[in-house]
Amino acid sequence: RFITFEGGEGAGKSTQITRLKDRLERLGHPTIVTREPGGSPLAEQIRSFILEGHAKPLGPFAEALMFTAARIDHLDKTIVPALKDGKTVLCDRFADSTRAYQGSSGTVAPSLIDDLERVALAGTRPDLTFILDLPAETGLARAGERQARKGEGGDRFEDEALSFHQALRLAYLDIAKNAPQRCAVINADQSADEVEAAIWATLRERIPE
Ligand code: C5P
Repeated sequence: RFITFEGGEGAGKSTQITRLKDRLERLGHPTIVTREPGGSPLAEQIRSFILEGHAKPLGPFAEALMFTAARIDHLDKTIVPALKDGKTVLCDRFADSTRAYQGSSGTVAPSLIDDLERVALAGTRPDLTFILDLPAETGLARAGERQARKGEGGDRFEDEALSFHQALRLAYLDIAKNAPQRCAVINADQSADEVEAAIWATLRERIPE
């Protein structure tokens, strides 16, 4: 099974992925956790190159191409082999992030994003995608607290205008509307335990076994 997690800043993806992995393993399902951008050595290099600042001037169009190249390698080296081994793959962000983030810039044509997705995902699409949804203000406040705790600087998108984060949220809801069989929108504006319970109930319902 290939399960992806999506959402804006501060949605709580990593907490939920860890909890789901623990639960699946307790039930005897071998599970790996991976992430995008990244997830294979080459893709991690592309992640650092873009997210660590140098590449911001590249702009969303080149980023969409580079994240797609990273995704092809990630599928090839990490995701597909794990699925072939019978493992459950939990992935923190995937192709929907390119559609939401680079797509919300307004400068990458949706038809190009469709084409890139078709090429990269050829035979491997997520069985289920959890979209952790919450108001942009709440997510940004959470992400800010997390950074203050860790003494980190902000991610580049945390410096964007609130309107960007609101557009991002709408982009994710639109993705869910267009792929209702694959996507489940989870209200992430509640406690981690409540989000965990909602994710588990949805997983049981969508992939019963
Ligand atoms: O939220 P997470 O830590 O997984 O994402 C890492 C960073 O990469 C975030 O700042 C996110 O906004 C950014 N990102 C991006 N384009 C993507 C995926 C992630 O700019 N396609």
